[in-house]
Amino acid sequence: MKVVYFDNNATTKVADEVLEEIKPYFCDLYGNPSSMHTFGGQVGIKIREAREKTAALLGCDPSEIIFTGCGTESDNTAIKGTLTAHPNKRKVITTRVEHPAVLSVCRDLESQGYTVVELAVDKKGRLDLSELGSNLDDNTAIVTIMFANNETGVVFPVEKIAEMVKSKGIVFHTDAVQAVGKIPINLSKSNIDLLSLSGHKLHAPKGVGILYVRKGTRLAPFMLGGHQEGGRRAGTENVPGIIGLGKACELAMHNFDQENKKVKSLRDKLEKGILAKCSDCMVNGDTESRLPNTSNISFEFIEGESILLMLDRFGICASSGSACTSGSLEPSHVLRAMGVPFTAAHGSIRFSLSRYNTEEEVNYTVEKIPPIIARLRELSPFIKK
Ligand code: PLP
Repeated sequence: MKVVYFDNNATTKVADEVLEEIKPYFCDLYGNPSSMHTFGGQVGIKIREAREKTAALLGCDPSEIIFTGCGTESDNTAIKGTLTAHPNKRKVITTRVEHPAVLSVCRDLESQGYTVVELAVDKKGRLDLSELGSNLDDNTAIVTIMFANNETGVVFPVEKIAEMVKSKGIVFHTDAVQAVGKIPINLSKSNIDLLSLSGHKLHAPKGVGILYVRKGTRLAPFMLGGHQEGGRRAGTENVPGIIGLGKACELAMHNFDQENKKVKSLRDKLEKGILAKCSDCMVNGDTESRLPNTSNISFEFIEGESILLMLDRFGICASSGSACTSGSLEPSHVLRAMGVPFTAAHGSIRFSLSRYNTEEEVNYTVEKIPPIIARLRELSPFIKK
């Protein structure tokens, strides 16, 4: 059965060009980039090139890039490394809708006695910047606010936030795992101090990420050991991952406008098609400020998991807003923070597209969904018959 993959915010296909680029670094060019010999040294040169390519996509200096193991590691390092470097400051500001890679760290810090402020969002998933402003004080070590939400695609006004935070001399970190490659980011013109990125969200392999650290930002290393990454992240480098990430960033930069335009038009077609053919459904999140690839739709009175299972029978991959992995069927913390009503939050589905999706796949999905929704509503205990 053909797979229609609309779950690109979970992970993406490794681009063919990326795979070709990294193949030699498993069995042929397997030297250690830190070795003195030429065999290892040539690998070191490729890592340097990858650093330059990633820096070019982000608009920063290559020396400001630290390669990490994943987006989660980048987020953990940014927050904990800043707190260690500013031992006299005991307050962290974040939002209620962060990914667990940030939220769990903040909640753990709270249990250790730090003051953690989780900013609220409105029903469209937007922040109230005056709430942020009134919480910035001398005790605040770091503000960590995501660039774009992984569930709804809502994009926060991060540049404006960074400016507010910077004007108070506070460190600003953004989790840009879902934003990089989808919306323009130019760090040379911003007040962002720390930024996290993950390779597997932009067609590079899993197990590699980046933490951007603006020159002059105080940050204690998270991983201690060897001198890799200038002593800022010890551990022998994930050579194929890093080289692959460099190539993926080059591809993202090269085809940026064209690909994002295509992805947005497919996403819009999918969304409009579904809304036109199904009653009692709505798009979650601020459609005025949203990633071009994401659509989070609530189908009232039915369970997201049931929709996913029925879509799966047709090879259509998406994800739901309920935390089914935890064994509970609690709606996601993001939709709850937005105040999405219970009956809608339970029936939410996230479609997330990539450059590899086609119009044919969109048409196929728009055709399959209405009978699935109608069937599940017939069975729904929430609808009086
Ligand atoms: N931050 C956001 C917004 C994400 O969507 C994800 C993954 O879904 C992460 C962080 C974690 O990234 P990784 O899977 O590379 O650890």
